[in-house]
Amino acid sequence: FPHVNIIDGKAAAARVLAEVRDEVSDLKSAGLHPALAVVLVGSDPASQVYVRNKVLRAEETGICSLEHKLPADTREDALLALIERLNGDPAVNGILVQLPLPRHIDENRVLQAIDPLKDVDGFHSENVGGLSQGREVLTPCTPAGCMRLLRDTCGDLAGKHAVVIGRSNIVGKPMAALLLQAHCSVTVVHSKSANLRELCRQADIVVAAVGRPRLVDADWLKSGAVVIDVGINRIDEGGRSRLVGDVNFDSALGVVSAITPVPGGVGPMTIAFLMKNTLAAARLQHPALHSQ
Ligand code: NDP
Repeated sequence: FPHVNIIDGKAAAARVLAEVRDEVSDLKSAGLHPALAVVLVGSDPASQVYVRNKVLRAEETGICSLEHKLPADTREDALLALIERLNGDPAVNGILVQLPLPRHIDENRVLQAIDPLKDVDGFHSENVGGLSQGREVLTPCTPAGCMRLLRDTCGDLAGKHAVVIGRSNIVGKPMAALLLQAHCSVTVVHSKSANLRELCRQADIVVAAVGRPRLVDADWLKSGAVVIDVGINRIDEGGRSRLVGDVNFDSALGVVSAITPVPGGVGPMTIAFLMKNTLAAARLQHPALHSQ
């Protein structure tokens, strides 16, 4: 399918990280050394990998990373006290609490305790509300990364019909808000939607954030559609374990004009935008730097 643009998320992420590196050196010349605090509670293996990758990317771009590893039995008030300390520390620009948290800790209370100006995941209600109002706030990294891929692929998005599959607070809802801000007509579908396939088939842009391997097949897609596949699903196939998206990539190739692969599509952009958000946070905290 030589006519299909297979969107290279790794290359796009490398470009974003190069921008971050340049901006970091500008900020350093202005006397500010951007720093990201990463908090991990417990020893979930997947979370450990995510945190390690985040720390590595930060270091590659010149952002100072401050790791806080706490035991799984950490009390909620001890975690809240740490966040309070990081909120008050002028040397810390971004605070990321790796999710999920152990069950005895109230995740929402912890996320709400983060200073909205340091909330690099964009999950605080102040930032969620700001996004919905179209204010300049810190925005969740995965949808922000998807928007960059879409803009790089399609240019102006105004007037396009976008269907977002999934309505989670982490991906689906903020994605819909960003697409609306970019003047798309947005349809959000979910597990209770009727006529999922017919709705999808009307879309110029499909963003799949479901968590169901290969749910979206070629007959769900309009000819020439642009597909962003956020899903990361581990399946066993032919006795081997592999990662697949929410879209049937092979069949979609016969229909779409552009599509992100899994892996190598949206995934690398998420971490790259965490770094972008750390810089955005530093600038929000130091408005005088905005003009530089
Ligand atoms: P959630 O489980 O929180 O949300 C899934 C959404 O999909 C829900 O809104 C659910 O509907 C909807 N849904 C579930 N089944 C169906 C179905 N059969 N038909 C239509 N809609 C359905 O997941 P997340 O949003 O957190 O993540 C989605 C996927 O993206 C996962 O595979 C995850 O691993 C991946 N992901 C990837 C990231 C990356 O960096 N690439 C980052 C974050 C997530 P309802 O609300 O009705 O239950």
